[in-house]
Amino acid sequence: MANQAKAFAAQSSTSLLAPLTIQRREVGIHDVQIAVLFCGVCHSDLHTARGEWGGSAYPVVPGHEVVGKVTKVGGSVARFKVGDTVGVGCMVDSCRTCASCKESLEQYCDTGGTIFTYNSPDKHIAGAMTYGGYSDQIVVNDGFVLHISPKLDLAAAAPLLCAGITTYSPLRNWGITKGHKVGIVGLGGLGHMGVKFAHAFGAHTVMFTTSESKVADGKRLGADEVVISKDAAQMAKHANSFDFILNTVAASHSLDAFTALLKRDGTMCLVGAPEHPHPSPSVMNLIFRRRRIAGSLIGGIKETQEMLDFCALHGIVSDIELIPIQKINEAYERMLKGDVKYRFVIDNSTLAN
Ligand code: NAP
Ligand code: ZN
Ligand code: ZN
Repeated sequence: MANQAKAFAAQSSTSLLAPLTIQRREVGIHDVQIAVLFCGVCHSDLHTARGEWGGSAYPVVPGHEVVGKVTKVGGSVARFKVGDTVGVGCMVDSCRTCASCKESLEQYCDTGGTIFTYNSPDKHIAGAMTYGGYSDQIVVNDGFVLHISPKLDLAAAAPLLCAGITTYSPLRNWGITKGHKVGIVGLGGLGHMGVKFAHAFGAHTVMFTTSESKVADGKRLGADEVVISKDAAQMAKHANSFDFILNTVAASHSLDAFTALLKRDGTMCLVGAPEHPHPSPSVMNLIFRRRRIAGSLIGGIKETQEMLDFCALHGIVSDIELIPIQKINEAYERMLKGDVKYRFVIDNSTLAN
Protein backbone atom coordinates (compact mmCIF):
# COMPACT_ATOMS: atom_id res chain seq x y z
CA MET A 1 0.00 0.00 0.00
CA ALA A 2 1.43 3.34 -0.99
CA ASN A 3 1.74 5.83 1.84
CA GLN A 4 0.45 8.96 0.16
CA ALA A 5 0.75 12.49 1.47
CA LYS A 6 -0.66 15.84 0.41
CA ALA A 7 2.01 18.42 -0.34
CA PHE A 8 2.78 21.69 -2.09
CA ALA A 9 5.58 21.61 -4.65
CA ALA A 10 7.44 23.70 -7.20
CA GLN A 11 7.57 21.89 -10.55
CA SER A 12 10.27 24.15 -12.00
CA SER A 13 12.39 27.13 -11.03
CA THR A 14 9.79 29.48 -12.47
CA SER A 15 6.54 27.80 -11.46
CA LEU A 16 4.44 28.74 -8.46
CA LEU A 17 4.10 26.19 -5.68
CA ALA A 18 0.96 24.10 -6.19
CA PRO A 19 -0.69 21.00 -4.69
CA LEU A 20 0.92 17.61 -5.37
CA THR A 21 0.31 14.12 -3.99
CA ILE A 22 3.61 12.53 -2.97
CA GLN A 23 4.65 9.13 -1.74
CA ARG A 24 6.20 8.64 1.69
CA ARG A 25 7.89 5.37 2.56
CA GLU A 26 6.18 2.79 4.75
CA VAL A 27 7.21 3.11 8.41
CA GLY A 28 10.34 1.00 8.91
CA ILE A 29 11.52 -0.41 12.23
CA HIS A 30 13.61 2.69 13.02
CA ASP A 31 11.11 5.20 11.60
CA VAL A 32 8.74 7.73 13.11
CA GLN A 33 5.69 8.87 11.15
CA ILE A 34 4.67 12.42 11.94
CA ALA A 35 1.46 14.30 11.18
CA VAL A 36 2.81 17.75 10.38
CA LEU A 37 1.05 20.51 12.32
CA PHE A 38 3.24 23.49 11.39
CA CYS A 39 6.13 24.21 9.05
CA GLY A 40 8.21 27.39 9.04
CA VAL A 41 9.10 29.12 5.77
CA CYS A 42 12.88 29.60 5.44
CA HIS A 43 14.58 31.72 2.78
CA SER A 44 16.42 28.49 1.83
CA ASP A 45 13.03 27.07 0.75
CA LEU A 46 12.74 29.93 -1.73
CA HIS A 47 16.37 29.62 -2.92
CA THR A 48 15.78 25.88 -3.58
CA ALA A 49 12.29 26.14 -5.10
CA ARG A 50 13.60 28.75 -7.55
CA GLY A 51 16.82 26.85 -8.29
CA GLU A 52 18.97 29.76 -7.07
CA TRP A 53 21.74 27.53 -5.71
CA GLY A 54 21.75 25.16 -8.71
CA GLY A 55 21.09 21.45 -8.21
CA SER A 56 17.36 21.64 -7.52
CA ALA A 57 15.61 18.46 -8.67
CA TYR A 58 11.92 18.98 -9.40
CA PRO A 59 9.38 18.63 -8.04
CA VAL A 60 10.74 20.42 -4.94
CA VAL A 61 8.65 20.08 -1.78
CA PRO A 62 10.37 22.55 0.58
CA GLY A 63 10.07 22.85 4.36
CA HIS A 64 12.61 22.04 7.08
CA GLU A 65 11.10 23.65 10.17
CA VAL A 66 8.64 20.89 10.98
CA VAL A 67 6.60 20.42 14.15
CA GLY A 68 4.05 17.65 14.46
CA LYS A 69 2.60 14.74 16.39
CA VAL A 70 3.83 11.17 16.17
CA THR A 71 1.21 8.94 14.52
CA LYS A 72 3.17 5.68 14.21
CA VAL A 73 6.55 4.30 15.29
CA GLY A 74 8.61 1.34 14.06
CA GLY A 75 9.29 -1.68 16.27
CA SER A 76 12.82 -0.58 17.23
CA VAL A 77 11.92 2.99 18.16
CA ALA A 78 12.28 3.51 21.90
CA ARG A 79 12.59 7.30 22.30
CA PHE A 80 9.24 8.26 20.76
CA LYS A 81 5.66 7.10 21.10
CA VAL A 82 2.39 7.86 19.36
CA GLY A 83 1.11 11.29 20.43
CA ASP A 84 4.51 12.82 21.23
CA THR A 85 5.17 16.37 20.03
CA VAL A 86 8.26 16.28 17.83
CA GLY A 87 10.31 18.30 15.39
CA VAL A 88 12.32 17.70 12.24
CA GLY A 89 14.90 20.20 11.05
CA CYS A 90 17.13 20.43 7.99
CA MET A 91 18.50 16.85 7.99
CA VAL A 92 16.90 13.41 7.98
CA ASP A 93 20.01 11.18 7.81
CA SER A 94 23.80 11.03 7.44
CA CYS A 95 26.52 8.35 7.21
CA ARG A 96 26.68 8.12 11.04
CA THR A 97 30.16 6.57 11.01
CA CYS A 98 32.59 9.36 10.03
CA ALA A 99 34.37 11.56 12.59
CA SER A 100 31.91 14.45 12.17
CA CYS A 101 28.84 12.22 12.49
CA LYS A 102 30.32 10.59 15.59
CA GLU A 103 30.65 14.06 17.12
CA SER A 104 26.97 14.72 16.24
CA LEU A 105 27.98 17.23 13.59
CA GLU A 106 25.96 15.38 10.95
CA GLN A 107 25.57 18.54 8.87
CA TYR A 108 29.32 18.36 8.16
CA CYS A 109 29.33 14.59 7.39
CA ASP A 110 32.83 13.92 6.05
CA THR A 111 31.58 11.50 3.40
CA GLY A 112 29.12 14.02 1.99
CA GLY A 113 26.43 11.74 3.41
CA THR A 114 24.16 14.39 4.91
CA ILE A 115 20.62 13.77 3.66
CA PHE A 116 18.78 17.04 3.81
CA THR A 117 15.06 17.12 4.53
CA TYR A 118 14.30 18.13 0.95
CA ASN A 119 16.10 17.95 -2.38
CA SER A 120 18.52 15.18 -1.32
CA PRO A 121 18.54 11.70 -2.89
CA ASP A 122 16.10 9.54 -0.90
CA LYS A 123 17.79 6.23 -0.26
CA HIS A 124 14.49 4.59 0.71
CA ILE A 125 12.63 5.17 -2.57
CA ALA A 126 14.54 4.37 -5.76
CA GLY A 127 15.20 7.44 -7.88
CA ALA A 128 13.31 9.77 -5.56
CA MET A 129 14.43 12.91 -3.78
CA THR A 130 13.52 13.78 -0.19
CA TYR A 131 10.39 15.87 0.24
CA GLY A 132 10.07 18.41 3.05
CA GLY A 133 7.48 19.70 5.44
CA TYR A 134 5.07 21.52 3.11
CA SER A 135 3.13 18.31 3.51
CA ASP A 136 0.60 16.69 5.83
CA GLN A 137 2.94 13.92 6.99
CA ILE A 138 6.56 12.84 6.94
CA VAL A 139 8.45 9.63 7.81
CA VAL A 140 11.86 10.13 9.43
CA ASN A 141 14.48 7.88 11.01
CA ASP A 142 14.25 8.27 14.79
CA GLY A 143 17.87 9.47 15.08
CA PHE A 144 16.86 12.68 13.31
CA VAL A 145 13.63 13.39 15.20
CA LEU A 146 13.67 15.91 18.05
CA HIS A 147 11.60 16.26 21.19
CA ILE A 148 9.62 19.51 21.46
CA SER A 149 8.41 20.63 24.86
CA PRO A 150 4.61 20.93 24.91
CA LYS A 151 5.26 24.08 27.01
CA LEU A 152 6.20 25.92 23.82
CA ASP A 153 3.72 27.50 21.40
CA LEU A 154 4.08 24.86 18.69
CA ALA A 155 3.58 27.12 15.67
CA ALA A 156 6.11 29.62 17.03
CA ALA A 157 8.53 26.79 17.90
CA ALA A 158 8.70 25.50 14.30
CA PRO A 159 11.31 28.10 13.14
CA LEU A 160 13.65 26.98 15.92
CA LEU A 161 14.36 23.89 13.78
CA CYS A 162 16.33 25.95 11.23
CA ALA A 163 16.43 29.69 12.03
CA GLY A 164 16.93 28.85 15.70
CA ILE A 165 19.72 26.29 15.43
CA THR A 166 21.52 28.15 12.61
CA THR A 167 22.01 31.15 14.89
CA TYR A 168 22.36 29.29 18.22
CA SER A 169 25.16 27.03 16.93
CA PRO A 170 27.70 29.68 15.83
CA LEU A 171 27.01 31.82 18.91
CA ARG A 172 27.77 28.77 21.07
CA ASN A 173 30.74 27.69 18.94
CA TRP A 174 32.38 31.09 19.35
CA GLY A 175 31.63 31.02 23.09
CA ILE A 176 29.45 34.12 23.14
CA THR A 177 28.69 35.24 26.66
CA LYS A 178 28.44 38.24 28.97
CA GLY A 179 31.16 40.80 28.23
CA HIS A 180 31.13 40.20 24.47
CA LYS A 181 29.92 42.74 21.93
CA VAL A 182 28.02 40.87 19.22
CA GLY A 183 26.49 42.11 15.96
CA ILE A 184 23.62 40.44 14.13
CA VAL A 185 23.27 41.51 10.49
CA GLY A 186 19.83 41.34 8.83
CA LEU A 187 16.56 41.31 10.75
CA GLY A 188 14.75 38.42 9.07
CA GLY A 189 13.95 34.88 10.19
CA LEU A 190 17.52 34.00 11.18
CA GLY A 191 18.43 37.48 12.37
CA HIS A 192 15.57 37.84 14.82
CA MET A 193 16.50 34.52 16.44
CA GLY A 194 20.15 35.60 16.51
CA VAL A 195 19.19 38.72 18.45
CA LYS A 196 17.15 36.66 20.93
CA PHE A 197 19.98 34.18 21.53
CA ALA A 198 22.82 36.74 21.73
CA HIS A 199 20.73 38.67 24.28
CA ALA A 200 19.90 35.47 26.21
CA PHE A 201 23.62 34.57 26.35
CA GLY A 202 24.31 37.94 27.99
CA ALA A 203 26.19 39.64 25.14
CA HIS A 204 25.90 43.35 24.34
CA THR A 205 23.83 42.85 21.19
CA VAL A 206 23.81 45.21 18.22
CA MET A 207 21.32 44.68 15.40
CA PHE A 208 22.30 45.81 11.90
CA THR A 209 19.43 46.38 9.51
CA THR A 210 18.88 48.08 6.18
CA SER A 211 15.26 48.81 7.15
CA GLU A 212 14.52 51.98 9.20
CA SER A 213 11.11 50.49 10.00
CA LYS A 214 12.68 47.63 12.01
CA VAL A 215 14.53 49.72 14.62
CA ALA A 216 11.85 49.48 17.33
CA ASP A 217 11.40 45.76 16.73
CA GLY A 218 15.15 45.16 16.98
CA LYS A 219 15.11 46.64 20.48
CA ARG A 220 11.94 44.79 21.47
CA LEU A 221 13.54 41.51 20.38
CA GLY A 222 16.54 42.08 22.66
CA ALA A 223 19.06 44.31 20.86
CA ASP A 224 20.83 46.87 23.05
CA GLU A 225 21.45 49.02 19.98
CA VAL A 226 20.14 49.06 16.41
CA VAL A 227 22.31 50.43 13.59
CA ILE A 228 21.14 51.29 10.07
CA SER A 229 23.91 49.60 8.09
CA LYS A 230 23.51 51.96 5.08
CA ASP A 231 24.39 54.94 7.31
CA ALA A 232 28.19 55.29 7.21
CA ALA A 233 28.28 57.70 10.16
CA GLN A 234 26.36 55.28 12.41
CA MET A 235 28.62 52.42 11.27
CA ALA A 236 31.83 54.41 11.91
CA LYS A 237 30.93 54.85 15.58
CA HIS A 238 31.33 51.07 16.02
CA ALA A 239 34.73 50.66 14.26
CA ASN A 240 37.07 48.06 15.78
CA SER A 241 34.68 47.17 18.59
CA PHE A 242 33.02 43.81 17.93
CA ASP A 243 34.12 40.41 19.21
CA PHE A 244 31.78 38.60 16.84
CA ILE A 245 29.34 39.40 14.03
CA LEU A 246 26.77 36.94 12.68
CA ASN A 247 25.76 37.83 9.11
CA THR A 248 22.38 36.40 8.08
CA VAL A 249 21.78 38.49 4.94
CA ALA A 250 20.17 36.57 2.07
CA ALA A 251 21.59 38.77 -0.72
CA SER A 252 25.03 39.61 -2.09
CA HIS A 253 26.57 42.67 -0.39
CA SER A 254 29.96 44.16 0.49
CA LEU A 255 31.35 42.59 3.65
CA ASP A 256 33.92 45.35 4.20
CA ALA A 257 31.64 47.68 6.13
CA PHE A 258 31.24 44.88 8.71
CA THR A 259 34.81 43.50 8.87
CA ALA A 260 35.91 47.08 9.69
CA LEU A 261 33.82 46.87 12.86
CA LEU A 262 35.64 43.81 14.25
CA LYS A 263 38.25 44.10 17.01
CA ARG A 264 41.66 42.54 16.55
CA ASP A 265 41.07 38.77 16.23
CA GLY A 266 37.33 39.30 15.85
CA THR A 267 35.28 37.01 13.59
CA MET A 268 32.40 37.61 11.24
CA CYS A 269 30.54 34.34 10.65
CA LEU A 270 28.45 34.10 7.47
CA VAL A 271 25.26 32.06 7.61
CA GLY A 272 23.32 33.85 4.85
CA ALA A 273 23.72 31.91 1.60
CA PRO A 274 22.84 34.29 -1.25
CA GLU A 275 22.26 33.28 -4.85
CA HIS A 276 25.14 35.48 -6.08
CA PRO A 277 28.57 35.69 -4.38
CA HIS A 278 29.57 38.62 -2.19
CA PRO A 279 32.18 40.93 -3.72
CA SER A 280 35.68 39.77 -2.74
CA PRO A 281 36.35 41.17 0.74
CA SER A 282 39.10 43.70 1.48
CA VAL A 283 42.28 41.80 2.41
CA MET A 284 43.61 44.88 4.21
CA ASN A 285 40.62 44.90 6.55
CA LEU A 286 41.51 41.33 7.52
CA ILE A 287 45.29 41.32 7.78
CA PHE A 288 45.76 44.52 9.76
CA ARG A 289 43.82 43.25 12.76
CA ARG A 290 44.04 39.50 12.16
CA ARG A 291 40.27 39.49 11.60
CA ARG A 292 38.48 36.43 10.28
CA ILE A 293 35.55 35.63 8.05
CA ALA A 294 34.02 32.23 8.81
CA GLY A 295 30.92 30.20 7.94
CA SER A 296 28.53 27.89 9.75
CA LEU A 297 25.88 25.41 8.61
CA ILE A 298 22.76 24.79 10.75
CA GLY A 299 23.76 22.62 13.79
CA GLY A 300 24.02 18.94 14.70
CA ILE A 301 21.16 16.86 16.08
CA LYS A 302 22.54 16.83 19.65
CA GLU A 303 22.97 20.61 19.66
CA THR A 304 19.53 21.11 18.09
CA GLN A 305 17.97 19.21 21.00
CA GLU A 306 20.06 21.26 23.44
CA MET A 307 18.80 24.47 21.73
CA LEU A 308 15.16 23.30 21.90
CA ASP A 309 15.56 22.50 25.60
CA PHE A 310 17.21 25.90 26.19
CA CYS A 311 14.24 27.57 24.45
CA ALA A 312 11.73 25.63 26.56
CA LEU A 313 13.59 26.66 29.73
CA HIS A 314 13.82 30.34 28.76
CA GLY A 315 10.50 30.67 26.91
CA ILE A 316 12.16 31.53 23.58
CA VAL A 317 10.20 31.08 20.35
CA SER A 318 10.01 32.82 17.00
CA ASP A 319 7.81 35.83 16.19
CA ILE A 320 5.57 34.45 13.48
CA GLU A 321 2.79 35.12 11.01
CA LEU A 322 0.68 31.99 10.56
CA ILE A 323 -0.48 31.39 6.99
CA PRO A 324 -2.57 28.81 5.15
CA ILE A 325 -0.50 26.83 2.62
CA GLN A 326 -2.53 28.48 -0.16
CA LYS A 327 -0.72 31.77 0.64
CA ILE A 328 2.78 30.33 0.20
CA ASN A 329 3.54 32.04 -3.11
CA GLU A 330 2.47 35.40 -1.70
CA ALA A 331 4.62 34.72 1.38
CA TYR A 332 7.69 34.15 -0.84
CA GLU A 333 7.16 37.52 -2.54
CA ARG A 334 6.74 39.25 0.82
CA MET A 335 9.89 37.54 2.18
CA LEU A 336 11.86 38.93 -0.77
CA LYS A 337 10.69 42.42 0.17
CA GLY A 338 11.63 41.88 3.83
CA ASP A 339 7.93 42.15 4.65
CA VAL A 340 7.67 39.46 7.35
CA LYS A 341 7.69 39.78 11.13
CA TYR A 342 9.71 37.65 11.39
CA ARG A 343 8.91 34.19 10.10
CA PHE A 344 5.99 32.81 8.11
CA VAL A 345 4.72 29.52 9.48
CA ILE A 346 2.33 27.31 7.53
CA ASP A 347 -0.71 25.89 9.30
CA ASN A 348 -0.46 22.43 7.69
CA SER A 349 -4.09 21.58 8.48
CA THR A 350 -4.91 23.83 5.49
CA LEU A 351 -3.47 21.19 3.15
CA ALA A 352 -6.85 19.48 3.58
CA ASN A 353 -8.71 22.49 2.08
P1 NAP B 1 14.96 36.38 5.49
O1 NAP B 1 13.94 36.14 6.54
O2 NAP B 1 14.54 36.74 4.12
O3 NAP B 1 15.97 37.50 6.11
C1 NAP B 1 17.06 37.99 5.41
C2 NAP B 1 17.32 39.43 5.84
O4 NAP B 1 18.46 39.90 5.12
C3 NAP B 1 16.23 40.42 5.47
O5 NAP B 1 15.20 40.47 6.41
C4 NAP B 1 17.00 41.74 5.40
O6 NAP B 1 17.14 42.29 6.70
C5 NAP B 1 18.36 41.30 4.92
N1 NAP B 1 18.49 41.55 3.48
C6 NAP B 1 17.82 40.98 2.47
N2 NAP B 1 18.22 41.48 1.28
C7 NAP B 1 19.17 42.34 1.56
C8 NAP B 1 20.00 43.18 0.77
N3 NAP B 1 19.89 43.19 -0.58
N4 NAP B 1 20.92 43.95 1.38
C9 NAP B 1 21.02 43.94 2.74
N5 NAP B 1 20.24 43.18 3.53
C10 NAP B 1 19.34 42.40 2.95
O7 NAP B 1 15.88 35.09 5.31
P2 NAP B 1 16.29 33.94 6.37
O8 NAP B 1 15.31 32.84 6.27
O9 NAP B 1 16.59 34.57 7.66
O10 NAP B 1 17.62 33.38 5.68
C11 NAP B 1 18.75 34.24 5.53
C12 NAP B 1 19.80 33.56 4.68
O11 NAP B 1 20.38 32.48 5.45
C13 NAP B 1 19.29 32.90 3.40
O12 NAP B 1 20.26 33.08 2.38
C14 NAP B 1 19.17 31.43 3.76
O13 NAP B 1 19.27 30.57 2.67
C15 NAP B 1 20.37 31.29 4.67
N6 NAP B 1 20.35 30.15 5.59
C16 NAP B 1 21.53 29.59 5.91
C17 NAP B 1 21.57 28.56 6.83
C18 NAP B 1 22.89 27.98 7.24
O14 NAP B 1 22.90 26.86 7.79
N7 NAP B 1 24.00 28.65 7.04
C19 NAP B 1 20.40 28.09 7.41
C20 NAP B 1 19.20 28.73 7.08
C21 NAP B 1 19.17 29.76 6.18
P3 NAP B 1 17.03 43.87 7.00
O15 NAP B 1 15.71 44.32 6.45
O16 NAP B 1 17.08 43.93 8.48
O17 NAP B 1 18.21 44.53 6.37
ZN1 ZN C 1 16.33 26.96 6.74
ZN1 ZN D 1 29.21 11.13 8.30
